Amino acid sequence: MSNMSDMTNINFDLPSDVLDEIQQNIQNIIESFDIPEDNKFDVIRKINFMYTQTKQLSITDALTNLYNRRYFETTFTREFARAKRYNTPLSVAVIDIDWFKKINDTYGHLCGDYVLKELSWLMVENFRQTDIIFRYGGEEFVILLTETPSDRAEIPVERLRKAVMENRFIFKGNNLNVTISAGLSSNKEVEDFGQMFENADKALYKAKNDGRNCIRTFG
Ligand code: GH3
Ligand code: MG
Ligand code: MG
Repeated sequence: MSNMSDMTNINFDLPSDVLDEIQQNIQNIIESFDIPEDNKFDVIRKINFMYTQTKQLSITDALTNLYNRRYFETTFTREFARAKRYNTPLSVAVIDIDWFKKINDTYGHLCGDYVLKELSWLMVENFRQTDIIFRYGGEEFVILLTETPSDRAEIPVERLRKAVMENRFIFKGNNLNVTISAGLSSNKEVEDFGQMFENADKALYKAKNDGRNCIRTFG
């Protein structure tokens, strides 16, 4: 097992020393079993497959299959640093479903879950592959738009808002009126990613106060 890293293609956002430690652990496990030399490659492959699957589960949300909040934190930190390093624009959109509690209270949680899944599809359809979509919390989503200043980020977010408004959400024969509000901000004149996120959240608060079913940009 001299070149385990050659046999695998792990490309995770873990620091290399952590990856090394995990691989060392795997190697230790394998060595503690009496595996015939011929089977070793197979065993390594299987363990790495399980590891990849587990890692995938740890960064996604089970209901929507979107990336989860944990992965958002690491991705945002990394993308913010990258944008700063290369002096490129980065935007973030915080999206929140309007009056979602009412949907749950009126039609039940299964209906709420249906809306969340349907909305996730609309988001995937409306953004570029280079935009990264996360389920941040219950009915809150975050989108990171790389290489995009906020005035350009408004375009796909507005397109999503319209798509949600026009989409037919039907649950058990009931027509649901679903709308979203969104707050946007960019890394322009911002110290750190925490401040950037807070700015988007403030813009979302404004969108809610301005009557919902609209998007607002910070600043
Ligand atoms: P607003 O327009 O101000 O955002 O109103 P709202 O009702 O959407 O906001 P609020 O924060 O009061 O309610 C959020 C609701 O989201 C609470 C809960 O009923 C619902 N919710 C959160 N997570 C889930 C989930 O995973 N599934 C379902 N079905 N509902 C959820
Ligand atoms: Mg909310
Ligand atoms: Mg809401």
